[in-house]
Amino acid sequence: KTVLENEAIRAQFPILKREVNGHKLVYLDNAASSQKPKAVLDAIVNYYSFDHSNVHRGVHFLSQLATEKYEAAREKMRGFINAKSTKEVLFTKGTTEGINLVSYGLSRSFLKPGDEILISEMEHHSNIVPWQIAAADAGAKLVVVNVLEDGSLCMDDFRKKLSDKTKLVSIVHVSNALGTINPVKEITQLAHEQGALVLIDGAQAAPHQKVDVQDIDCDFYVISGHKMYGPTGSGILYGKEAILNEMPPYQAGGEMIKNVSFEETTYNELPFKFEAGTPNVEAAIGLSAAVDFMEEIGFEKLTRIEQELVAYAHERLSEVEGIRFIGTAPEKASVVSFIVEGTHPTDIGTIIDKLGIAVRTGHHCTQPLMDKFGLPGTVRASFAVYNTLEEIDLLTDAVKRAVKMLK
Ligand code: PMP
Repeated sequence: KTVLENEAIRAQFPILKREVNGHKLVYLDNAASSQKPKAVLDAIVNYYSFDHSNVHRGVHFLSQLATEKYEAAREKMRGFINAKSTKEVLFTKGTTEGINLVSYGLSRSFLKPGDEILISEMEHHSNIVPWQIAAADAGAKLVVVNVLEDGSLCMDDFRKKLSDKTKLVSIVHVSNALGTINPVKEITQLAHEQGALVLIDGAQAAPHQKVDVQDIDCDFYVISGHKMYGPTGSGILYGKEAILNEMPPYQAGGEMIKNVSFEETTYNELPFKFEAGTPNVEAAIGLSAAVDFMEEIGFEKLTRIEQELVAYAHERLSEVEGIRFIGTAPEKASVVSFIVEGTHPTDIGTIIDKLGIAVRTGHHCTQPLMDKFGLPGTVRASFAVYNTLEEIDLLTDAVKRAVKMLK
C-alpha cells in the first residue's frame, strides 16, 4: 500500500468526523456531491456576517463590497477554466441550469427544422432532456453516438453520425456512471470542421482535472460547484463571447436589462444579460473558496491521489466473488461502478449503509446507458481527494459481507 499523504487535507472537512449508524462515516458518493472544507463554510458565514447586501445596485458601502466579492469570484472562476474574459463566465445554479440556458437560447435563435443535435449514450439526463425539448421546439433531430462495451465513446460512430446537418454536439467530459474520460478536444475539433457548436458537460471533470476551455476550444462548458467542494446552487456556464452575444437571454427581469420601457427593452452587456434577478452571491463566494482549496493542493497531487484510490479500489474489489466492473475504459476518472452477480445494487447499498458506508446505487440519472448494458443500475463508489485506502478496505469488507448475506 502506498501512502496518499492527504491527512491534512482530510482534516479540513468537519463532516468526515461524524458517525453514521454507529460507524465512522465512509463517504464514497462524491460524484453525486462532494463534502465542503472549512474554508468554504467560513467564506459563506463571513460573507453573511460582514459583507452581505444586494449586488450591482447600490451606491452604498455594503452593496459595493458585495459586488466586489461577487465579481472577484467570477474572476477566480475565469482563471480556473482559463476563459479569455469574465464576460464569458456566467454564474448558474449548476450544470443542469447551464445546459438549459444554452438549449433554450439555441432552440430560439440558431436551430432550424432538419438540423441535428449530437449527444451520446452515456449522457446524464440533464444532457438529454433539454435537447429533446429544444429539438421538439425547433423541429430538429436528436442523434445519439454509441458507447462501446468497455464504456468508452465509439469515435468511429461519432465520425459517422457527425455531418454538415449537425449544428450542435453536446457530450460529457467525464461520465458520472462509468468514469470514462472522453477525448473532448478531438471531439471539438471534428465538430468544428463540420461547422457545429460544441457544449461539454464538465460536471465530473472539473472536480478531478485541470480544465482549460481555450485549449479544448469548445463553445460552451458547464460545471456544478457542489461536486467540486463548493456550495449547492453554485455553478458556471462558460460560453464564447461572440456566441453569447448572439444568443437570446434565458430569464428576464432585473439586472439583465440596460433600459426598459413598455415599448422596448434593451439588454445588459455580458455576462449580466444572462443573470436575471438577484444572484446567488453566497454560492459564488463559496465556490471561489472551493477553487482556492483545490488550487492550494494543486491538480497534480489531487489527480495522483484520486488515481491511486481508483486503482486500489479496482484491486481490492476484484476480490469480491461475482463482481463485474461497468466502465473499464483506459482513460478513467474517480468512479468505480460495479454489479455483483446474483444481487441487486440497491440491496448492497442498503446493507453497507448500515455499516456507515455511503455509495450511490441505481441508474445514476443515466437510464438509457443502463438500458444499453441491460442493467437496473450499478453500485457506484466515487472518490474525492480526502478519501483513504483504509476506506476502500472498509468498503471491500462491507461489500463482501453484503454479498454473503444476499446469496
Ligand atoms: N452531468 C453530469 C455528468 C453529472 O454527473 C451531473 C450530476 N450528477 C449533472 C450533469 C447535473 O448536475 P447538477 O445536478 O449539479 O445540475
